[in-house]
Amino acid sequence: MKAYRLDLNDVVQHPGRRVEYPIEIWLEREEAPPLAEPVQGVLIAESGGRILRIAGEFRTVVWLECGRCLTFYRLPIEFRIQEEFPLVGTPAGLNPQGYAEVEDRDSFPVFEGNGLYADELLRQYVILNLPIAPVCQPECKGLCPRCGKNLNEGSCSCPPRAGHPAFEALARVWYGENDDEHNGR
Ligand SMILES: [Zn+2]
Ligand SMILES: [Zn+2]
Repeated sequence: MKAYRLDLNDVVQHPGRRVEYPIEIWLEREEAPPLAEPVQGVLIAESGGRILRIAGEFRTVVWLECGRCLTFYRLPIEFRIQEEFPLVGTPAGLNPQGYAEVEDRDSFPVFEGNGLYADELLRQYVILNLPIAPVCQPECKGLCPRCGKNLNEGSCSCPPRAGHPAFEALARVWYGENDDEHNGR
């Protein structure tokens, strides 16, 4: 990864300068869920002299695996980026001898010098915006625990269950013990 480098040096050296970058990229599969559509949006970089603001609105569509029925489904994702990075040094726009540079102390840095790795930044946001427990639809019926059939596609021929398996097990233990007591008398 870290292949889509935006050179923001011109913005960094000129306080007040604001540049928009239309972006459309596919992220590497190993580091993000597979994308059904590229990440698209506009990234805005603006220097405030001592701070570099990175903002933008993006959208994409990812492929996720449903935790209940194990099928893959497409999930549209939209997110807004809002980041501020401190600048060290005097911008060249204020002093010809000067040179300002982005200070990115994050444990997963997205800057190298004044170059922003937009793919790394977008990857972090895509992952932040994924559901913790992906489900293809709120009413997903999941798989039959006996035959494994996807119950969203129709019911299977397994006998209907009397209740929740955990409660069935509890009931068996309870009645089983009582039966033993009874037999012992
Ligand atoms: Zn499902
Ligand atoms: Zn079944």
